[in-house]
Amino acid sequence: MARLEQMIETALNLMSADGITGWGLVLLDSRLEELGSLHAIGEPVGCTTETCNHWSHDPAAPQRKWVPCEGTLIKLGESDDRDGTSTYYCLRLEEEDVFLCLHEPRSFWSELRIVEPDCVPAYILLHIRNAAPHHEREPT
Ligand SMILES: [Zn+2]
Repeated sequence: MARLEQMIETALNLMSADGITGWGLVLLDSRLEELGSLHAIGEPVGCTTETCNHWSHDPAAPQRKWVPCEGTLIKLGESDDRDGTSTYYCLRLEEEDVFLCLHEPRSFWSELRIVEPDCVPAYILLHIRNAAPHHEREPT
């Protein structure tokens, strides 16, 4: 039986867990539902006008966070284009690396999809190499 203390503990763990957050985040790949879980982590934000047909924007939605249930999530980098921002991630599983792209259009809900390794821009990989984690650096 669920107790309030346990539910608060679970909520705290969710907030601090490594994950990918976006406004109204939508999963565009069913495998993402197997690899992790999606949670609303804020109150709905955005247009709530009932007479609006939401042509130029999406209706109100909460910030949502996708949290992988296994593996290590690494943020590779982001690129801006005229449609918004794309942020690339690598989910390092024991047996494979899964590459993810979070697309955040300016006025529409964000989308998370799995991408082929070829789709990760080379300059983002080079940036990661230059900013190697501390434990991989030579001692100074
Ligand atoms: Zn609207």
